[in-house]
Amino acid sequence: MYRTRKSLPAARMPRARGGLDSSHARSGKPLVMTIVGRGGCPAGYSPSLPASLSDACQRERRPVSGKHIRLPHQRREFSSPLNNRFRPEDPRSVHRCREFRSYDQQMALAKIILYYVFTPLTDPTAVRLWQRDLAESLNLRGRVLISHDGINGTLGGDIRAVKRYLRKTRDYPAFKNLDVKWSDGSGLDEGGASLDFPKLSVKVRDEIVSFGAPGELHVTSDGIVGGGTRLSPDALHDLIATRGDEVAFFDGRNALEAAIGRFQNAVIPDVNTTREFVTELDSGAYDHLKHHPVVTYCTGGVRCEVLSSLMLNRGFTEVYQLDGGIVRYGERYGDSGLWQGSLYVFDKRGSIDFSPHAAVIGECTGCGGPTKRTGNCRDASCDNQLVVCERCDRALCDRHTAEQLKQVGVDRVMQ
Ligand SMILES: [Zn+2]
Ligand SMILES: [Zn+2]
Repeated sequence: MYRTRKSLPAARMPRARGGLDSSHARSGKPLVMTIVGRGGCPAGYSPSLPASLSDACQRERRPVSGKHIRLPHQRREFSSPLNNRFRPEDPRSVHRCREFRSYDQQMALAKIILYYVFTPLTDPTAVRLWQRDLAESLNLRGRVLISHDGINGTLGGDIRAVKRYLRKTRDYPAFKNLDVKWSDGSGLDEGGASLDFPKLSVKVRDEIVSFGAPGELHVTSDGIVGGGTRLSPDALHDLIATRGDEVAFFDGRNALEAAIGRFQNAVIPDVNTTREFVTELDSGAYDHLKHHPVVTYCTGGVRCEVLSSLMLNRGFTEVYQLDGGIVRYGERYGDSGLWQGSLYVFDKRGSIDFSPHAAVIGECTGCGGPTKRTGNCRDASCDNQLVVCERCDRALCDRHTAEQLKQVGVDRVMQ
């Protein structure tokens, strides 16, 4: 669990009645409040509390287990990141009164991070155990993949917990250059966990992005050796300004993601999973781009690190990668640049927009109307995702549509 040190301006300092903050009151210095875990009662600290509650809280409070504060006058709530039960011996478990809970909820802010770093890791399993314990203790949810070549993750939770996670993770020398993108989460549940992920998953894999080509990468502490040239959003615009139509955008994501948002005139490979890229490149379908400047792009940049390297290995001569991916481009240019549509994300938000005037370029599989919504195939056994509007709600994927048409044909013949 985490501790947050908050400096409150002297003007907001409550009247002290002995106890924890009397020395601060005498000194006239700003009050430094240390919140232990999610707790420590602010009643008496918070000037917004009704005076009677504030008084009662100050009068009744007394230390429990050194760091905890017991508030017998309130309906008590117990909070622990582990099992939601108060355990005096566990410093992460604290005792909160109702006022504190509302104070804590006011302070809470749901955030989601996307991050990766390519760096050699000799013991991915040890890193997994450390990362799992760290994320779990901070009540974070999401997915983290670790391999011998680095770490790649997306996590959601309260902003204070996420910041602490990043501080701790960057303490590990191999992860000090972690590239992180932030976005707003949908919210937090009662326990303070992200609503955008069902759970926390931390796994060791052969690759941190599954191209099915783990042997092809050469990774040092400086990242991938022989990847595409990195382009910042501004450098991308410079390239387009000097080379014009010669430049080809190459979408490094799955076809579904590109269906609701993409760069103008981008080449969209026909792939359902990242694993299909190698076959697609080897098919010769993109050989005409081998002597063109090709800009690969993906959500946060991690897939293009690998894709651009695979392309260079296969004879593409001038390959670039959009550094920081679409997320960083969107932060810089919003919907006023070369990006159009919504950015698909792999959590419950479904997609994010860079501005209120984002174009809707997706077409519903059911009715053909414009939408950015994605959903599962109507067949319960099918994992395929589709662009489908709220009105149609659920539609069938190509394979299941074909199967249904075949079945209708069989039924007709039988009649
Ligand atoms: Zn529809
Ligand atoms: Zn299907």
